[in-house]
Amino acid sequence: MNHTSKELVERSAELRALLNKASHAYYVLDSPLMEDEIYDRLYRELLDIENKNPLLITTDSPSQRLGGLPSKGFSSTRHRIPLLSLDNAFDFEDLKNWYQKVNKFLELSSASKEILNLFSMVGELKIDGNAIALSYVEGLLVKAATRGDGSTGEEITSNIRTISSIPLRLHLNNPPSWLEVRGEAFIPNQIFKLINEEKYKKNISLFANPRNACAGTLRQLDSKIVAKRKLDFFAYTLHLPNDWEPNDSELKQPKTQWEALKWLQKVGFKVNPNAELLKNLNEIKNFFNKWELKRNQLPYETDGLVVKINDFDLQKIAGFTQKAPRWAIALKYPAEQIPTTLKKLTWQVGRTGVITPVAEFEPVALAGTTVSRATLHNADRLEKLDLHSSDTIIIRKAGEIIPEVVKVLKDLRVKNASRLELPKSCPQCNSKLIKEDNQCSTKCINSCCPAIIKGTIKHWSSKNAMDIEGLGNKLIEQLVNRKILSSISDLYKLDLDALASLDRMGEKSAENLISAITKSKQKNWTRQLYGLGINHIGEANAKALAKNFPDISLLSDVSFKDPEKITAIFGIGDEIRQSLQQWFSSSSNQQLIQDLKNEGITLKASTSNLTLVNNNKIDNKIFVVTGSLPSLSRNEVKALIEQYGGKVNTSVSSKTNFLVAGTDAGSKLEKAKKLGIQIINEFELKKILIPNSPTNSNAT
Ligand code: NAD
Repeated sequence: MNHTSKELVERSAELRALLNKASHAYYVLDSPLMEDEIYDRLYRELLDIENKNPLLITTDSPSQRLGGLPSKGFSSTRHRIPLLSLDNAFDFEDLKNWYQKVNKFLELSSASKEILNLFSMVGELKIDGNAIALSYVEGLLVKAATRGDGSTGEEITSNIRTISSIPLRLHLNNPPSWLEVRGEAFIPNQIFKLINEEKYKKNISLFANPRNACAGTLRQLDSKIVAKRKLDFFAYTLHLPNDWEPNDSELKQPKTQWEALKWLQKVGFKVNPNAELLKNLNEIKNFFNKWELKRNQLPYETDGLVVKINDFDLQKIAGFTQKAPRWAIALKYPAEQIPTTLKKLTWQVGRTGVITPVAEFEPVALAGTTVSRATLHNADRLEKLDLHSSDTIIIRKAGEIIPEVVKVLKDLRVKNASRLELPKSCPQCNSKLIKEDNQCSTKCINSCCPAIIKGTIKHWSSKNAMDIEGLGNKLIEQLVNRKILSSISDLYKLDLDALASLDRMGEKSAENLISAITKSKQKNWTRQLYGLGINHIGEANAKALAKNFPDISLLSDVSFKDPEKITAIFGIGDEIRQSLQQWFSSSSNQQLIQDLKNEGITLKASTSNLTLVNNNKIDNKIFVVTGSLPSLSRNEVKALIEQYGGKVNTSVSSKTNFLVAGTDAGSKLEKAKKLGIQIINEFELKKILIPNSPTNSNAT
């Protein structure tokens, strides 16, 4: 980010204020103002500013404080050994840097080669709960405390006693005079669900997540409520007096984190079973990837993993920073939401003329890719977001794919920022924009707008429409910008010379393109209808409409004269009827229909490309054909009946539903008469198959 120092001073002050406010809501009120990942990123931004500009560090900066202050309802208690937090790595690169730094640090320190050879790590799941310090005296639980500010926490012993997985007395014959165990209290997901369901029934505000619910529960003044909430606990840190001598050979003084976990388990603690000994970065990566996939199957939340140097001697050498041990790091799972700074707002004009605001922002890594722009969907969304220049915005990936702006952090808005509004005129053709009644969209309705022309041509030539190979977006841009194309029908008038003169277009590719365009004339009616890009007529609707109305003139007529026939089709509603009426009433669209027809694009179904129709009237009905029909050959009539879902048999039986009889019909006609089977001619057959066919209406 390119900030001047004045901007940095302001930004750091705003970040401090917002993060402190969020911390208070999180730690004291148990009611977070923002998602953890957003907090983490903003905190990281502040740290970056402070690291590069140490003069900007103030005593009230959240970087100078660990966690929250003890709350007033409980007495505070000092930890025998500080209970620190963990440094965070946001991606594997961060973790690699930590690994290299720690290695270097150990090499530079007086650590002997022998000790360094012991360098291995323990990977543990990062349980998303609350750190608790347990104090045992002569094997008896005497005190339990929250982390608080790391030196002083809240004394919550009676609440912690309700957690059945915490031993009240250690399973040890000769317990040490004192023992400090640290671990994570958490609420299993199933219980979290039940708590929130109950709150919902009582109309009380819900807990944001299991961690938040756990913190709220631990701070309950009534331990009976805590007992009902069924908290659980995983132990992960052990502090044992150096002079403690075990009288059981299996319970020797642990010298590594791995041994400490085993020790804790033996004396009665629940230890997370998924920890692994890891030898190198590759093994860390595999461990991380494995749990990123499997974590959803766990009955509790984990938000990453914690990597710890295994050997206690090496841990001692690595030591601590003010807030966290240097010998451990948390690697969090990739953020699904992330804050970033808006650079500018741009406008896209779609093929239907709808104006879409697009936010362009400082690139951020989000769920596996780097993103730098996101759509705001429509003018209403822009209005609701109340977006201002240089705002800090939260981005997430909708459906894991498309980035979108979720909200704006107004607390971080820069002074004198200007409100971003929708333009009054089209950014492409300058004509006046209109807002349609009952619609959130604002539109350019100038059919000559180059953006609309480009969009229409792109859609017409797309894979699922006319599938014109070689007509890429860049080429369309050039053709429209040079005014060679101003409508889709112009495609069919393109000549070789005009094409060959374009950038990056040789004679051969021009020839290929012309041939692809010509070939596209053969595409079926469904594709043609879809390709016209009528609002709300996507592939499925085009298919349904094309099946029922095999000709554009018929579709146009019906949409005005008999619109119920349109809305009677399953899945087609009033919106589509309206859209069709709107499209057909435009004189430029009527002109387009004419122009396309002149170029040989029929805009109707041909018998040979009619697709299978679910015509209930003839579904599975049995037809027999006899004699010669006026316009269809035997094969054509058979194909036609089958395309509409009927069956064609060669001989007449009591199961036959229709006999299609032409001239010179013989014995089949006689038999059908005897059996009382309905006898129809070719015209009647078409009427049954395609009730609205223009051929039929002309014939009547
Ligand atoms: P942290 O949650 O990022 O990581 C450290 C904690 O991990 C430890 O204190 C411990 O409780 C826990 N942990 C879980 N499993 C562990 C294991 N196996 N070994 C060791 N530790 C383990 O840091 P934090 O200091 O507890 O909390 C800071 C976090 O609180 C921030 O990252 C942020 O996400 C959240 N926060 C959120 C808001 C908000 O507004 N949403 C405000 C303030 C803080």
